[in-house]
Amino acid sequence: MELLSSRPPPTERRRKILLVDRSSDRLRLLESFLHRDGYDVLLVEDPDEVLPIAREGICDLILLEAHMDGDFAFSLCSELRLADALHLTPIVLMSPTPPGEEQVVRGLLAGADDFICTERENELLARIRVQIRNRRDRELLQWAQRQRTRLEGAALSDPLTSLSNRRAGDRAVMRALENGGPVMLLMMDLDHFKEVNDEHGHAMGDEVLRRVAKVLARRTRKGDTVARYGGEEFIVVIAGAPTNMAHKIGERYRQGVNEIGLTGTNIEGVTISVGVAVWDGSGPRPNRETLLEAADRALYTAKRGGRNRVVVQVAAGHEVRTTDAPEKLL
Ligand code: GH3
Ligand code: MG
Ligand code: MG
Repeated sequence: MELLSSRPPPTERRRKILLVDRSSDRLRLLESFLHRDGYDVLLVEDPDEVLPIAREGICDLILLEAHMDGDFAFSLCSELRLADALHLTPIVLMSPTPPGEEQVVRGLLAGADDFICTERENELLARIRVQIRNRRDRELLQWAQRQRTRLEGAALSDPLTSLSNRRAGDRAVMRALENGGPVMLLMMDLDHFKEVNDEHGHAMGDEVLRRVAKVLARRTRKGDTVARYGGEEFIVVIAGAPTNMAHKIGERYRQGVNEIGLTGTNIEGVTISVGVAVWDGSGPRPNRETLLEAADRALYTAKRGGRNRVVVQVAAGHEVRTTDAPEKLL
């Protein structure tokens, strides 16, 4: 499974330094020095080339001559710091003479991570190692954060249809109820779906489920939640909409599924039955189970009534009234 095989970034790979200095002599000298300490080095003499090269994101650290015309090095430093591709990349300013306090402060505030005197060669190498070490830690942290986001996403999503899964659906119901209503919960189940599997195979069954999921997702408004709640069962959670729309909304989904074209298959068509539980926000708040049970009961009534239809149950506290023409009751 891809989620489990994702490896952390390699910590011991050879690192590349972008070395920027207008003096070619100093460039060569520093290059050989850095080579000896195990780094690859990319040399840039023209400061105007630094940004485009650096933005490619191929270097692990930028070592930048501080004494350029006017404030050029500092403004370059700021631009580099703001580049998306470089948010993990340390920028180190360097000067052949020990920098004064004011210069160091300006450099650091412009976005540099350190300011080094190139005369002190061992200190230079030690400071570069520290910066690379910090970068490696940040790479690992970034990887761990991405893994976490992916795992969280996977824990809440259904791999077959990419819809929210049951856990996410349950959370959405809870959230909607806690917001104080009104809440509509649609529970939908494919009609005679076992026959699709039996007659056309499980793979075709899966394909039908994906197509149904797509149609349901397309008909679900932003802020509402559609989830695959079980094998061939889906829910939609709608918060804040007028509850006298429940039947109409249920119909929107039912008709959408009716219209699915299954060209390329010899399946004639699929239908769903829809049970809707409605809480208009007044009276005692039903809990999640009550609302789900109400939707389930409505779905059962729709199945018993002949399938391919919408039934609404109005949940007022724990009392549930059944109707397939809810407008009259609300
Ligand atoms: P009803 O109209 O009463 O709902 O009839 P039904 O045949 O849909 O109901 P039943 O609950 O008897 O069958 C549901 C079927 O859904 C059984 C199972 O083979 C199928 N199913 C459930 N999950 C999946 C899935 O992930 N993929 C496929 N292909 N089929 C599934
Ligand atoms: Mg079914
Ligand atoms: Mg079912």
